[in-house]
Amino acid sequence: MPAEKILIVEDEKKIADIVKSYLERDGFNVTIADTGEKALQLIRDRFDLIILDLKLPDIEGETICRYIREFSDVPIIMLTAKSSEDERVKGLGIGADDYVIKPFSPRELVARVKAHLRRTKKSGEKMLSFNNGLLRIDTLSMEVTKKGKIIPLTTTEFKILLSLAERPNIIFSRVQLVTMVQGYDFEGYDRVIDAHIKNIRHKIEEDTQRPLFVKTVYGAGYKFIGIPD
Ligand code: CA
Repeated sequence: MPAEKILIVEDEKKIADIVKSYLERDGFNVTIADTGEKALQLIRDRFDLIILDLKLPDIEGETICRYIREFSDVPIIMLTAKSSEDERVKGLGIGADDYVIKPFSPRELVARVKAHLRRTKKSGEKMLSFNNGLLRIDTLSMEVTKKGKIIPLTTTEFKILLSLAERPNIIFSRVQLVTMVQGYDFEGYDRVIDAHIKNIRHKIEEDTQRPLFVKTVYGAGYKFIGIPD
């Protein structure tokens, strides 16, 4: 099995080198980008996970995170010196999967890296279940059930629902959803996403005015609010 590829985006050489050596000791294939510019050049390569420092000399880590999320759902762990709740929430809101506050123990970071990689692998074969089994999504057979009854969804509806449900409480913009579902974006598709969401709600929600699963975040997009079992 080829080693899993990890990109570290960090300008502080000491930190980057320590994390790299810890990860390499565990058999990972590690690349370091010490500027945002370099990260953007490398990012189109396939990485299994990205460790991203928020504070870079040239481009904000947030900007890079948003950029990656336009085309990829690779796990992203943010490194941040900021410990205020606001910044953490912001980091997760723009699509990071996790954050580690500096100074951190490299051992702990490696443990988190492994946990995220395990989760990514598992999600390819997993049954997602929410609200005590009220809603279940079988990612392999693409079957969705509500209270055990199969809900017929179109392929696009299924993809949108799965994209949201795989990452509860993360806000997705319409453009992100279009990109994830179609692989590209085109003008005017925003409204189509709204129509799909409307259909999904009619099929899976008891009360579409008070959704338990797909919530509109005004001015931002949508997020999945089901509670994982
Ligand atoms: Ca830095």
